Amino acid sequence: MVIVLKKGIPEQEKNNLKDFLARNHFRVNEITGEEDTILGAVGKLSIDPREVEILPGVERVIPISKPYKMASREYKKENTVVEVKNCHGQIVRIGGQKVSVIAGPCAVESLDQMMAVAERVAAAGAVMLRGGAFKPRTSPYAFQGLGEEGVKILRQAGDAFGLPISTEIVSAEHIPIMRDYVDVLQIGARNMQNFELLKKVGALGKPVILKRGLSATIEEWLMAAEYLLASGTDNVILCERGIRTYEKATRNTLDLSAIPVVRSLTHLPVIVDPSHGVGIRDKVPPMGLAAVVAGADGIIVEVHCNPEKALSDGAQTLYPEQFEKLMRDIDVLAPVVGKEVARIKKSSPQSVHRHSHESAEGKVVCAFSGDHGAYAEQAINKYFDGAQSLSVSSFRDVFQAVVNGDADYGMIPLENSLAGSVYENYDNLLRFDDVEICGAYTLRIEHSLLAPRGATVDTIKYVYSHPHGFPQCKEFLEKYPQWTHIDSASTATAAEIVAEKGSVENAAIASALVADYYNLEVLATGIESNPRNYTRFVVITSRDGKTQESHKEPSEGLCCLNNVVKASLAFAAKNEPGALYECLGVFHQHNMNMTRLESRPIPGQPWRYMFYVDLLLSETEKEKDMKDAVDALKAIAEDVRLLGIYNERSV
Ligand code: PEP
Ligand code: MN
Repeated sequence: MVIVLKKGIPEQEKNNLKDFLARNHFRVNEITGEEDTILGAVGKLSIDPREVEILPGVERVIPISKPYKMASREYKKENTVVEVKNCHGQIVRIGGQKVSVIAGPCAVESLDQMMAVAERVAAAGAVMLRGGAFKPRTSPYAFQGLGEEGVKILRQAGDAFGLPISTEIVSAEHIPIMRDYVDVLQIGARNMQNFELLKKVGALGKPVILKRGLSATIEEWLMAAEYLLASGTDNVILCERGIRTYEKATRNTLDLSAIPVVRSLTHLPVIVDPSHGVGIRDKVPPMGLAAVVAGADGIIVEVHCNPEKALSDGAQTLYPEQFEKLMRDIDVLAPVVGKEVARIKKSSPQSVHRHSHESAEGKVVCAFSGDHGAYAEQAINKYFDGAQSLSVSSFRDVFQAVVNGDADYGMIPLENSLAGSVYENYDNLLRFDDVEICGAYTLRIEHSLLAPRGATVDTIKYVYSHPHGFPQCKEFLEKYPQWTHIDSASTATAAEIVAEKGSVENAAIASALVADYYNLEVLATGIESNPRNYTRFVVITSRDGKTQESHKEPSEGLCCLNNVVKASLAFAAKNEPGALYECLGVFHQHNMNMTRLESRPIPGQPWRYMFYVDLLLSETEKEKDMKDAVDALKAIAEDVRLLGIYNERSV
């Protein structure tokens, strides 16, 4: 049964409750969730739950009828996200908003083989290295693996490329070596119901990938997970790897329908192994993609630099080139299901020692989307006290640069006072749940007419700008009806094109600040029809590699005059009358001034929305107030996410 405790229950009452349960032969596990503190009590249910419900400190009791308890959704409402650290202390997450890809050969064969394949899969975007050292082969005469030496080789190859490692444990005898060397233990399909092994592996408390048995039902699979959880680990990753059916065309039948089913029954992350699922190389990538679409938290794929020579499972093993293409395809597909591909930060000295936040020239690096001279780059120059700006080609690439360590920060627009919200970035903030907002800056947008030297308004025939630039300068342009308007990707790109062409026939509508950069002349300035034209940018940074402490204020060197303290959060309101009203009431009760409310559709859930809220906080007690408000919101809303507490420069 699940016992939800009253908020603020005294320690003594909690201990009395635990003693009571222990006397009645229950094993008790305390979970401090984001919403509630609960006691999970696993036993033979020899008492009436009502007897527990009347005890002091108990809010309510939820009897669990399912044979698995700790694995069930009733036991834990929030999805479990398994965290594994690599050798640089960077966290790889399985679950949540990420698609995490684990790759490597079926078996560890030699150091050279592992180093070669680890390099390829790491470069392509895998976040964990796999490889069997103890192979449970159907034939006793087949290659049985390198054993202990294989585990050590796997470790060495993983560390060389910053990848945590995962390998199968077939016997409790191997626990000493596995415990010291392996990050994530695998329980193979053939051992899914080896209950003694499950108990001993669970007791190690390490993350475990639990393959579905060859002919296991979903319930049997979850019961096996229950063994692991009940023995002491909280971190179980379920892995669908195909089941035995009458079909002979594929090695197994990959049961992708299990993914949404399992998702509703358990809070545990679930990944898919398309390699063992289909057993045929060319059929692996499409099923890997299908797994992502079906909602898997990741895939585990066999890859070898020379699969024809592989000592096991060569026929189902991808060439590195096939794996690279699969990764590119997953990258494109993941946003369709509201996710992003997990990445390991590049292990360059710059990103490993992130506390320095310095580029080679000793500056912090801030990414922005567009060409040099873009308004976002101006925002970087105004917000930071000397940052190096990094130009990338899309908003998503700004997020990606922050996640993979190419940049310390990113500057992204959320809203323009004339053109409205930049919805794409609201969606990006949700998909990249390992990124947070750490600052904000509002920039006044002032347009100018730029042209090569010698040009006048009379020589101009063509005007280039971002599509938003023309309507914003409508009154000025009406004076020159003979000019042809040509759209470009950004105002800075418009200036670049005009500079490249070098003809006095062309002009660009852009910021006067880019004139010098592109050696253009400013023919007119302040040409926007409405001078109250502002874009609000937020500064994003990775949640990883920093202590809570350093999140609180902009880093040293950031300009922070005229600050207000703000918080941004997102949540889904329940689908019932008055739900949003109740949620917004929380901010009122906490005396927080809501400065913005925005909604976005939730992918895959028609007519359901995520709400984004910006709040003005008081200088004092801001963290505590926000925590209280978030706790209160969690009790009535779903998927509550604090996107950041930060200083915003007012204009
Ligand atoms: C493996 O992953 O190498 C393996 C043997 O898988 P399974 O246990 O799913 O057959
Ligand atoms: Mn294999």
